[in-house]
Amino acid sequence: MAKLHVITYGCQMNEYDSERVAGLLREHRYELTDSEADADLILVNTCAIREKAEEKVFSKLGELRALKARKPELVLGVMGCMAQLQQTTVQKRAPYVDLVFGSAAVSRVAELVDRARTERRHVLDTGEAPLVKITARPPSADRVRAYVTVMEGCEKHCTFCVVPRTRGRERSHPPEAIVAEVRGLVAEGCREVTLLGQTVNAYGRDLTPPTDLPELLERVNDVEGLARIRFTTSNPYNLTPRMIAAMRDVPKVCEWFHLPLQSGSDRVLERMNRGYTRARYLELITALREAVPDIALSTDLIVGFAGETEADFEATLEMVEHVAYDNVFAFRYSRRPGTPAADMTDQIPEAIKADRNRRLLEVVHRVTAARAARLAGQVVEVLVDGVSRRNAGELSGRTRCNRVVNFDGLGRVRVGDVVHARVTEVLPHSLRAALQSTPEEAVCSSR
Ligand code: SF4
Repeated sequence: MAKLHVITYGCQMNEYDSERVAGLLREHRYELTDSEADADLILVNTCAIREKAEEKVFSKLGELRALKARKPELVLGVMGCMAQLQQTTVQKRAPYVDLVFGSAAVSRVAELVDRARTERRHVLDTGEAPLVKITARPPSADRVRAYVTVMEGCEKHCTFCVVPRTRGRERSHPPEAIVAEVRGLVAEGCREVTLLGQTVNAYGRDLTPPTDLPELLERVNDVEGLARIRFTTSNPYNLTPRMIAAMRDVPKVCEWFHLPLQSGSDRVLERMNRGYTRARYLELITALREAVPDIALSTDLIVGFAGETEADFEATLEMVEHVAYDNVFAFRYSRRPGTPAADMTDQIPEAIKADRNRRLLEVVHRVTAARAARLAGQVVEVLVDGVSRRNAGELSGRTRCNRVVNFDGLGRVRVGDVVHARVTEVLPHSLRAALQSTPEEAVCSSR
């Protein structure tokens, strides 16, 4: 078999695409290798969300150029958002790349690789194509937890974002295809799925007949053998009372919700074209906490968006304190060519962005540590997913609220089991716990 090496940058959507590409190529006699030097084909799955992410890709391509010079038969491909958006730049800055293809061409990857190999000329495929459900996965993919794409694209047009240009308009996969994929994953040992979409809570409105995410969650919940369901990324604009009720009522849906805020200032939210205000966001948080009191909340925040004043920034700090998030992903605003915000004239100097980012992280660390501390002494449900990274004598898993837990359970429980454990120590990035119940006991008492 020929050897494939995949390098993935960016979001879960990219991780998912990389897995699918590896699965599809396996059917064409490519097996995955961890070694770049051994590979006959290297695919770089790229992210265009920030300038830094793009520069990382070009620097990696620079390294791979030397490898290709030593091994001219190596096929080098670039896929993902940068391939879609920066095809000309990729061709200019890295002319030794053989193959460039966008997300719509993932299902044709084997054919494209064949063309690049046999025709020995640059192959480019970044056009639109019908939505195809690809379920192939490589044997090395995580068996216990899996991503399932339920929709592609986004029609929100936030002024800072390139996604509507890289992933196209919203297109949902039919619920039957999603349920069939989940059933297949469960048959292979999967216990937890994360349903993926750029605006996942807008799922289904483009289908005939239309459906929605709550209905899909109920259908996925009925898959026997599946223990947990997560979904991401939600947009506050599409967060309906039905959706909040589903968080409460669908038993396998975890008490974890990622709801990007981006800014705590109404003025900035308007300039970002986010479609909600700070007050509306807080109403949603209140409704979520009323429905699911234990819910863990995470968010994305952008620091130093064009025109952000000190008062706007302080409004964001206030929101972090007020909402009391469990996790925050903070990013300095990065101008993306072709987006409306890139042309705004009141850009914030990098030094101010860096200072605000540092101040934001101080607040975030304090707030998230206080949220984590509440778990001390509590009994949590853990889905066991492997051996602890730091200690091979311990097992590791995740709580329903998505925290990593390490505990001593070797020989008593197995990967894929759902158990209960009492939290004995809260560490900055994980929990330590003592096993309280075997898998059978956990089944009786889990919700
Ligand atoms: S909703 Fe998300 S994916 Fe869509 S444009 Fe806004 S930030 Fe980008």
